[in-house]
Amino acid sequence: MTGRLQVCEPEAEIAKHTHAILKLTSGRELRFVDPRRFGRLSVAADGDFDPVGVEPLDVDLERFVALFRGRKTPIKSALLNQKLLRGVGNIYADESLFRSGIRPRRKAASITREQLGKLFVSVKEVLKEAIKLGGSSISDYVDADGEEGFFQLKHRVYGREGEPCLTCKRPIKRVVIAGRSSHFCPKCQQ
Ligand SMILES: [Zn+2]
Repeated sequence: MTGRLQVCEPEAEIAKHTHAILKLTSGRELRFVDPRRFGRLSVAADGDFDPVGVEPLDVDLERFVALFRGRKTPIKSALLNQKLLRGVGNIYADESLFRSGIRPRRKAASITREQLGKLFVSVKEVLKEAIKLGGSSISDYVDADGEEGFFQLKHRVYGREGEPCLTCKRPIKRVVIAGRSSHFCPKCQQ
């Protein structure tokens, strides 16, 4: 989605947002520069390359629906599974599920095609808004000037436990799924 790999001499100035530097046998360095932190590096042993998931902004509806077929895990966990979809973080998953009216604990396989269609649209919307606003925030995002992103201002459920749902006024609930906080509206999300 963003980020780039550079090969440079070790003396070269280290660019802002360099998250990894690997020494090459040639003596040069391979650097990973990713201001938006949507990028991902993984290490694979020879012959053991495990392809990572699809890019949520590129995936088409058919492929998206197929990702969840037969999965007994909660939809929230499936969304966070980087082997299915890349780059959908905890906040984005909660916000996408709220917008599509799906409870985070629902088994992925139990979600209708129509609802998955809504989720497909929501995931793309949320990611595009986040990118436009400068990334997520809260825990780990700061922009080039050290400022937090603004996406938190638009959160509809994430971090709003006990506060009224923006649609129906019921208090937002928080549960823990696979070790991650999950926020949802008990009325709007089924
Ligand atoms: Zn609601």
